[in-house]
Amino acid sequence: MAEQKPVSEIASIIYDYEKVLLVGCAGCVAVCLSGGEKEVEIMAAALRLLRRQQNNPLEILTFMATRACAPEYLVDLDPLTKDVAAIVSLACGVGVQYLADRYPEKWVIPAQDTKFAGGSGEHGIWEERCGLCGDCILHLTGGVCPIIRCAKSMLNGPCGGAQNGKCEINPEIDCAWQLIYNRMRLLNKLDKLAEFQPAKDWSLNRHGGPRKVFRKDVLVK
Ligand code: SF4
Ligand code: SF4
Repeated sequence: MAEQKPVSEIASIIYDYEKVLLVGCAGCVAVCLSGGEKEVEIMAAALRLLRRQQNNPLEILTFMATRACAPEYLVDLDPLTKDVAAIVSLACGVGVQYLADRYPEKWVIPAQDTKFAGGSGEHGIWEERCGLCGDCILHLTGGVCPIIRCAKSMLNGPCGGAQNGKCEINPEIDCAWQLIYNRMRLLNKLDKLAEFQPAKDWSLNRHGGPRKVFRKDVLVK
């Protein structure tokens, strides 16, 4: 899930440039209506208009990557980058970094603030559902993530502050541990909640540097 930065902020970053390339992504950011084809065109039009008003015309090229997080989808972008010094990416932070890797001599600017990994439970509403901890325990918590859906990321039961099933930090959300309890009771697996969950070993995970996953079946081909 990502949200666009204000156009005025992007305009001020690229103020000294006469020509930029705007790159969108047809993947996740298109689904959440922040970085797809339509959003690229709207942003291009808004930037051109702003710059005309500032008497500082801006030339904009646009490109849509099928997936900005896979370098093979950036190959067709190469010719467009030849005479631009700055590239504005409407992909998530992952896509921005693949652009920067491919074009190290270009200034790559993120047009989006990447918020979280989540889904769309209702039309037009995106919810954070996974903190990408790398050590999933959803089978022990009734399919409710305690890292993300509990405001305190409690791993071993509720904090005790919930009121009428709502979180004490944010009364607008259900207490995750109430949901976990309800689901585990439904599954007749309440005994699983007695299993101690050690603190996540973030030193080996999130703070151990960028992670990689290797698929051996792909690598041996
Ligand atoms: S426990 Fe939560 S944060 Fe960790 S992988 Fe599972 S859903 Fe994601
Ligand atoms: S009330 Fe529930 S969801 Fe809120 S912090 Fe406490 S255990 Fe977590």
